Amino acid sequence: MLEIHQFPCLSDNYGFLLHDPDSGETAAIDTPDGAEYLRQAQAKGWRITQIWNTHWHPDHAGGNAAIVAASGATVVAPAEVERIAPIDTVVADGDTARLGQWQARVIDVSGHTNGHIAYHLPQANIAFVGDSVFALGCGRMFEGQPQQFWDSLDRIRQLPADTALYCAHEYTQANAKFALHADPDNAELQRYASEIDAKRAQGEPTVPTDLGRELATNPFLRADTAVLRDRWGGNNAAETFAALRAAKDNF
Ligand SMILES: [Zn+2]
Repeated sequence: MLEIHQFPCLSDNYGFLLHDPDSGETAAIDTPDGAEYLRQAQAKGWRITQIWNTHWHPDHAGGNAAIVAASGATVVAPAEVERIAPIDTVVADGDTARLGQWQARVIDVSGHTNGHIAYHLPQANIAFVGDSVFALGCGRMFEGQPQQFWDSLDRIRQLPADTALYCAHEYTQANAKFALHADPDNAELQRYASEIDAKRAQGEPTVPTDLGRELATNPFLRADTAVLRDRWGGNNAAETFAALRAAKDNF
């Protein structure tokens, strides 16, 4: 069985260590804080053998150097990570990353950055999506264009509905406030938002989230629905997405 160790990092990032007991390999999913990753791995008795980056931002790849220096891990990353750290294996859409017998398919989810990728492990029903999609939200569109970002979200929408999405930040409670503003009559969203408030009141994480539930509640994954088009405008899903994204940036 693949083991996933999730822990808070920096102010609102999550760190993820993926461990395969059969091969003894451990992958760090992004590296917001190299020292914290090394501490967490040591506490588990694991050695980090690989780093899988999702995009180049320092709160995702800034800890690469410290981890490589301490553990000799090899770095799997999209080419854009070379801006801040060396890469051993450059990957892009359709490529496969391997951890023992486990395979992760690389998916282009660009839009937050132009080279952003996600790692989908179909055998484990999980995907590490970085800052592309969040519970009830999506990343800011720093580098990409609306059609590009919508196409990326659409690739995530095509994954099996029971896929667990591991997003990189605990932004859910703030995202829920905007989602309720964007889609106020969505009863499933109202239930979900109450559960989120209860979890956060207990200090519990809202990550991972379930893709099927996001498909029913996350406005950014629902930009092709009549209810959101009627409320937010746009002649197609990408334009409705752009209107939602702009509204959230100023919310
Ligand atoms: Zn980012």
